[in-house]
Amino acid sequence: MATTLPSAPKIGMVSLGCPKALVDSERILTKLRAEGYGLSADYAGADVVLVNTCGFLDSAKEESLEAIGEAIAENGRVIVTGCMGNEADVIRARFPQVLAISGPHQYEAVVDAVHEAAPHTPSPFLDLVPEAGLKLTPRHYSYLKISEGCNHRCAFCIIPSIRGDLVSRRPDAILREAEKLVAAGTRELLVISQDTSAYGIDIRHQPREWHGREVRAHMTDLARELGSLGAWVRLHYVYPYPHVDNVIPLMAEGLITPYLDIPFQHASPSVLRAMKRPANDAKVLERIKSWRAICPDIAIRSTFVVGFPGETEADFEYLMDWLDEAQLDRVGAFRFEPVQGAAANDLPDPVPEPIKEERYVRLMEKTAAISAAKLRGKVGRTLDVIIDLVDDETGGATGRSQADAPEIDGEVHLRDAGHLAAGDIIHVEIEDADEHDLFGVPVQS
Ligand code: SF4
Repeated sequence: MATTLPSAPKIGMVSLGCPKALVDSERILTKLRAEGYGLSADYAGADVVLVNTCGFLDSAKEESLEAIGEAIAENGRVIVTGCMGNEADVIRARFPQVLAISGPHQYEAVVDAVHEAAPHTPSPFLDLVPEAGLKLTPRHYSYLKISEGCNHRCAFCIIPSIRGDLVSRRPDAILREAEKLVAAGTRELLVISQDTSAYGIDIRHQPREWHGREVRAHMTDLARELGSLGAWVRLHYVYPYPHVDNVIPLMAEGLITPYLDIPFQHASPSVLRAMKRPANDAKVLERIKSWRAICPDIAIRSTFVVGFPGETEADFEYLMDWLDEAQLDRVGAFRFEPVQGAAANDLPDPVPEPIKEERYVRLMEKTAAISAAKLRGKVGRTLDVIIDLVDDETGGATGRSQADAPEIDGEVHLRDAGHLAAGDIIHVEIEDADEHDLFGVPVQS
């Protein structure tokens, strides 16, 4: 006689914000999937909708509130979590019908709220957990969170007040997660945290045993071990502390991806001081040159803020000259925006909006020209490319070189690539370039 299995409640998920928030969403869904809950790709099919919010900038908060409003209008049964959950009063004032609100990383609270809103009786017939948990990112790349929180107090940032001081994960726990991810098909690990180079400071770099070796809770040890797993390893949110020099030889050896995401935010010493930025070292330009001497292919990505209070025309010119020297591969920029609760809001000499805008445009023009020239220099070369998407209709594909992180950097557009699959890593001859992207064709190795 056939057994009729009860159908499991389905969860909808709207995940906003940074890659760190995406990792939180993955963890919550992994736990719920492990308990047998189903997922719904649309509002209509969901028994309850989770909205993982971002509260970093006021504009992000507004986006979070709009997402909550949409989920309520479309489904009605909504649980809110994430950074904006710390402002439960604001959410409740606008949406009193929200079922539950929790802050960032409060996985248990979210799962408890789901149990209450959509109870589920587990079934041994239905409840299978994918080997590496359930991922929201494509299977071939994964974000790997190595720590939470931050010991710095940058004047424009409220993350430490939301997420607290640095709490590092044990190196063996990170490596176990990474190993499982690679075994389940991950070809690229994206290491994330608020401050990757500070990893392990809070636990005094205490070593743990991993496959018979002692591995310190330190960025260099971790990078070396991750590099031995056979996937690309990309380091994000690295501050240029002196010990960062030690990972450059690992890139030159091909052990980790020759890529550093360093949020410099500015170059003028007086602005950096006012921003209270960590590793604010006047010799950074010399160090970038020495990194390139060791690993010529290293790609450096960064973000900058223009119009920080007190930024003079001379400060901005200093930054523009610095960019000419630094020749960064990828640059993102923000116009300074006061964030509720940030110390920078009390600083004197705000920069008028039209000047902010003008500086932003000048900075973007300069960095786009640098990026275009660097990309032109790659035409004629053969690069390793990881495939993200294959278009069956056109027979083309889109991928990324080692210089490009997903979602934030450029792409490599391929023709004659219909035989490939997402996650393949292939050699590509680069035929053309524009300001952001490369164009090429697969070649036999
Ligand atoms: S380093 Fe600065 S900007 Fe980054 S999370 Fe810490 S306080 Fe915020």
